[in-house]
Amino acid sequence: MERTLVLVKPDAVEKGYTGAILARLEATGAKLVAAKMLQIPKALAEKHYEAHKAKPFFPSVVGFITSGPVVAAVFEGQDVVAKVRKAMGATNPANAEPGTIRKDFAESIERNAVHGSDSPDSAMVEVALYFKPEEIV
Ligand code: ATP
Ligand code: MG
Repeated sequence: MERTLVLVKPDAVEKGYTGAILARLEATGAKLVAAKMLQIPKALAEKHYEAHKAKPFFPSVVGFITSGPVVAAVFEGQDVVAKVRKAMGATNPANAEPGTIRKDFAESIERNAVHGSDSPDSAMVEVALYFKPEEIV
């Protein structure tokens, strides 16, 4: 069954939106199969955002994602990567559809409340960055 990695980012954890965001994702029908709170070490953040290494926002997004605790979670289900991305909304909350997580909870294009893997292949890599197999039930 397909899985995806979700991060409730530091801005949303700080503002107390963790439960609301996870509830919206569960409401898509996706099944929560792993979850934990952590402060992401810089080396892990750099690996996570490796694809963006050459972009001007790379140092800033690494700084942001390591700036406070996050909640990492794995969701499972049919087409779960696409379902979670749809529930999240556009990267920039200014462009996000009404009813999406980023429209309702994000502050800015960087402080955008939630991460979701962008493909089944990247999901497999990202789930393994954050969770040992025995942490997924
Ligand atoms: P995520 O990977 O966090 O789920 P995404 O796939 O919608 O978000 P990406 O293009 O992968 O967007 O960008 C990764 C993250 O980098 C974004 O979520 C955002 O926090 C930050 N980011 C992206 N574009 C910009 C930008 N132009 N300026 C500042 N930060 C940005
Ligand atoms: Mg992305």
